[in-house]
Amino acid sequence: MAPKSIATLPLLLLGVLLCVQCQTPSGAGPAAIVEAASRHGLVDVRAVVPGVVIDLRYATAANVAGRPLYPAGMPCLIERRTGEQLALAARELATHGFRIKIWDAYRPPQSHLALWKAVPNGNYVSAPSKTLSMHCAGAAVDLTLVDAQGRELKMPTGFDHFSPKAAADYTGTDPEVAGNLAVLQQAMRRAGFHTMKTEWWHFWNPAATPHVAVPADALGILLPPHVRNLSHRVR
Ligand SMILES: [Zn+2]
Repeated sequence: MAPKSIATLPLLLLGVLLCVQCQTPSGAGPAAIVEAASRHGLVDVRAVVPGVVIDLRYATAANVAGRPLYPAGMPCLIERRTGEQLALAARELATHGFRIKIWDAYRPPQSHLALWKAVPNGNYVSAPSKTLSMHCAGAAVDLTLVDAQGRELKMPTGFDHFSPKAAADYTGTDPEVAGNLAVLQQAMRRAGFHTMKTEWWHFWNPAATPHVAVPADALGILLPPHVRNLSHRVR
């Protein structure tokens, strides 16, 4: 073997190793995630709630953390029974000419930890030292209403507006806001959802079974690095 070849071999090996290390890990595609989710009792909201509008804010930087907490393009997942109940609410809301717009439904446990890191306030975010959010089991949903053209209806505040103004019991003076919120809450309560005192957009389902947090990697979801690194802290 010529000296040149001998010298080249270690370089080639080094190159292969570096190449492997530089590879960006990739998660499963949306269809594969939905398929894996079905084995954990979760379904794609689009498949069960007619006319639903999806705007997952934690898949973007447009949230209180200022950066994505789960990947763009992640399907909107919900616990199966919770999805069926949400469909009941959507049917009632359709009689008013309204549709549901979802800001968050299933939330990976690691994403919840990242949210807690951004908002360490137990009035608004479940403290991971006590319990994970029901979002982590797909049994809670954050939503608002849109009209037939997809325009958001006037509500007390925007999403993740963590202040007393976001209370489920509206104390403002705008009759339009009061009316919109009443229609939303009535439909959701009739479908079996409970409200949360401090967040008008959050609804949870006591009838969801079981309340078990589903980890992102069980569904093939590749979380952003700053979120993925928190995974060892999931209890
Ligand atoms: Zn919520």
